[in-house]
Amino acid sequence: MDWIRLTKSGKDLTGLKGRLIEVTEEELKKHNKKDDCWICIRGLVYNVSPYMEYHPGGEDELMKAAGSDGTDLFDQVHRWVNYESMLKECLVGRMAIKPAVPKDYREEKKVVNGMLPKSQVTDALAKEGPRSPSYDWFQTDSLVTIVIYTKQKDINLDSVIVDHQDDSFRAEIIIKDYSYIIHLGLSHEIQEDLSVRVVENVGKIEIVLKKKENTSWKRLGHPLENHDSLVPKKGLHYRKCQLISKEGVTHDTKLFCLMLPPSTHLQVPIGQHVYLKLPITGTEIVKPYTPVSDFLLSEVKEPVILNNKYIYFLIKIYPAGLFTPELDHLQIGDFVSVSNPEGNFKISQFQELEDLILLAAGTGFTPMVKILTYALTNIPSLRKVKLMFFNKTEDDIIWRSQLEKLAFKDKRFDVEFVVSAPTSEWNGKRGHISPALLSEFLKRSLDKSKVLVCICGPTPFTEQGIRLLHDLNFSKDEIHSFTA
Ligand code: FAD
Ligand code: NAD
Repeated sequence: MDWIRLTKSGKDLTGLKGRLIEVTEEELKKHNKKDDCWICIRGLVYNVSPYMEYHPGGEDELMKAAGSDGTDLFDQVHRWVNYESMLKECLVGRMAIKPAVPKDYREEKKVVNGMLPKSQVTDALAKEGPRSPSYDWFQTDSLVTIVIYTKQKDINLDSVIVDHQDDSFRAEIIIKDYSYIIHLGLSHEIQEDLSVRVVENVGKIEIVLKKKENTSWKRLGHPLENHDSLVPKKGLHYRKCQLISKEGVTHDTKLFCLMLPPSTHLQVPIGQHVYLKLPITGTEIVKPYTPVSDFLLSEVKEPVILNNKYIYFLIKIYPAGLFTPELDHLQIGDFVSVSNPEGNFKISQFQELEDLILLAAGTGFTPMVKILTYALTNIPSLRKVKLMFFNKTEDDIIWRSQLEKLAFKDKRFDVEFVVSAPTSEWNGKRGHISPALLSEFLKRSLDKSKVLVCICGPTPFTEQGIRLLHDLNFSKDEIHSFTA
């Protein structure tokens, strides 16, 4: 907040009195001190000296890129941060000579006309990445179907993200660490709702659009940025979602339900998070959140979330926080931007799983919700699921009675609550994560059971937990930690 206030104060933060200049590599190199520090990100140069004391990662982290191109470093650490908005008052200008940014995978494309276009893959990608998909389209009187041939076996509905805003149509197919993008200005208008089908074993995707008028389309549209290209996953695409409901869960957490636009297809895979974006006093602020399912709330066995139009978030409101009070002030019907999903949890980690152990602290419980739901309904080999849920006080425990009910109903599931600041009435487990608490709890149901331990919470909790798990001889493959 202090940084945002400074950027709005009218103070000259670049030292250039609002002028933008062309920066040569030699010039950039000269600005490599704390009180005179320029950094280039994606061809734009910023004077970050005034920002030093506000950088959450500290000055030393910023100084690693002083006087140089920090694009790679930035992408490694927090590529989701909206630096353009945060640093717009620090913009010095553009690099005069193209800096050594990561390879540009884009190529100009001239015609797209319903012919199978030759995919645009650079030599580097062709060698390192997956095979590039291709696409085609056909039409009936009322429908246009875009068919994408990914030639991949592990494609499912989670891999496909489609948006149609104004007359721009964008489909992103996630293939490992790459995205195949169809991005077009459609030649004709379409109706709001669209549908997506996937033939999983051959990796064929069909996106069905409804024509607004029953005329014959001569062409699908004109190409927009990155159209028909396979690019390393980078940047985040957002769409505006409407707040449908907001309900208190504990004294400081709320369940937010957001509705996707009708012309969006997006499913957040288990264990992955998205970024929510809101303008806060004129600056776009972005924070990560992990969607939950409402399974624990409903008495029915199947999760109701399956219609995929709604995304639920369990969010703790920090009164002195930057983002959550703003989110809490939203009214029903207001909009929040939601990004594409991110994260490295893979469903394949569940294969042949026998014991699943979940260690959650505070809102670190959120990734566990879908994991728990999925594991109990979809893994036939599963014998035991155990959740150890760490909170400060009894009142902080999210969905306590629902978890207790589930443990009563499903004999495979056990839950243990641990409280670090208990009242005298608390007669359950106490304290922070420790060998004493973990060693008994982590016992496998059988000697050689295939086990996965998932851990999520405040960073010191997660780091300490991982150390303890290693001390207790859990291998790297048996631990999944959720971090940013
Ligand atoms: P912040 O401004 O970050 O402040 C948080 C707290 O820290 C406040 O109490 C504030 O007073 C204090 N604080 C801030 N700066 C300082 C400082 N310099 N010194 C001392 N104290 C300070 N959270 C959820 O509730 N639900 C989720 O599903 C969820 N999913 C996440 C997924 C991922 C991958 C990650 C990394 C985090 C997730 N989080 C989740 C946390 C979330 O992203 C935010 O960090 C959280 O909501 C706090 O945001 P804020 O801007 O409101 O608070
Ligand atoms: P909190 O401050 O209420 O603490 C909950 C419990 O965490 C405490 O009772 C304690 O047992 C443990 N804990 C806290 N600090 C600890 C420390 N220094 N050492 C050992 N244990 C400690 O938690 P909260 O405010 O709900 O915060 C939840 C955290 O989880 C946030 O930092 C959030 O960013 C993180 N989170 C991460 C993800 C993800 O996917 N990476 C998802 C959701 C939440």
